[in-house]
Amino acid sequence: ETKSYWQRYRSIPIVNRIGAAFVLGSVVGLIVGEPVTVLEPLGDIFVRLLSMIVIPIVIFTLLMGIRRISPSTLGRVGGQVIALYAIMSAIAVGIGLAAANLVNPGTGLTLTEDVEFEPADTPDFLEVIVGIVPENPIGAMAEGDVLAAIFFVIVFGLALLLLEEETEDETVRSGVESLFNIVEAGTEALFKIVWGIMEYGVIGVFALMAAVFGQAGIDALVPFALLIGTLLGAILVHIGVVYLGGLIIALTRQSPIAFLVGSKDAIVTALSIRSSSGTLPVTMANADDNLRINEGVYGFSLPLGATINMDGTAMYQGVVAVFAANLVGVQLTLVEQVTVVLIAVLASIGAGGVPGTGLIMLTLVLTQLGLPLEVVGFVAGVDPILDRLRTMTNVTGDLAVTTVVAHWNDAIDFDSGSWVDPTRGLEIG
Ligand code: ASP
Repeated sequence: ETKSYWQRYRSIPIVNRIGAAFVLGSVVGLIVGEPVTVLEPLGDIFVRLLSMIVIPIVIFTLLMGIRRISPSTLGRVGGQVIALYAIMSAIAVGIGLAAANLVNPGTGLTLTEDVEFEPADTPDFLEVIVGIVPENPIGAMAEGDVLAAIFFVIVFGLALLLLEEETEDETVRSGVESLFNIVEAGTEALFKIVWGIMEYGVIGVFALMAAVFGQAGIDALVPFALLIGTLLGAILVHIGVVYLGGLIIALTRQSPIAFLVGSKDAIVTALSIRSSSGTLPVTMANADDNLRINEGVYGFSLPLGATINMDGTAMYQGVVAVFAANLVGVQLTLVEQVTVVLIAVLASIGAGGVPGTGLIMLTLVLTQLGLPLEVVGFVAGVDPILDRLRTMTNVTGDLAVTTVVAHWNDAIDFDSGSWVDPTRGLEIG
């Protein structure tokens, strides 16, 4: 019996189909140019579909996670996750600065942009902390405020656990049980939706990439080749040496290939949509299905990471700071470079994982160093490319740290088959 074309198409792993759409879309964009941007709405639909389930999936998986681990474990996991996120981001800026100092990507270029830019407000660290407590949990969820949503869900989940433990009332106890069961079913349903959205992603990613390259064209990118190359080189070192070598091989003794294969859908989605928050449903699906990490860890660490952990963004600040200094022909002192590390890490904590955040944060770094803000306008044209690389790094970092913390807390399920199961993602419908 022969398979239909549709069945044959569906039997190709989704990430391969999306990868092909990514390449094909880019090529079509470069060839056709401007007119192809009419396809952009098809891409926007993909991004909106993913955004649609971010908050539901964060709430559901986090509640499931709380049911699975004890409150004391949650506290320990939280500490480990936050500490690793901060350390990784600082290392990332360090690598970015080192690479940029080596290459000096801005030499030979002159600032051509004379657009005026307003510096972004310095994020007030206290304000960020206070803002984690929502005034109105429904409002926070409605606005997609992930940190505030996490806070409320943890409080609510812990209250449910306590109640289940303490109550004498059978009705209440079975009510809590039923609620958790509903959440379990809801989580499964949401993951089904993720894979369904990824099926549409083949069209969405084609349209997104065609629109980007249709707009920019290769000529616009050539002067920035050195900048793009420097960031890419620094990112590859960071992923290869720090994530794979340090976190995955040294700390968890797992295969780096298995980790990358397991994270592939999230990586490709991040490259396509330039948003860690938007990628979150796919990141969670990969952590669950492929890396086999317990919700108790990833349900907390991944939404948190999508908001506060931005290694790629922090690294980009370092690289562009040197690029900007090159443009105006000054040399950054060691103290100034350390300042970049501090602002970059702090700014990446306060900023959300949406497209273009890093470019806005750049105004802070430049202002602090007394470098011209026009640089922001100058690099804005290539930002759609740089942003993809940053976001991919951010998401990979979230997954790598999550894997380490899961390993430390015995929260990886190796018994349920191989660590990586590449056939997942095919079985919807
Ligand atoms: N787009 C990035 C992210 O979502 C943030 C940035 O602009 O650097 O992770």
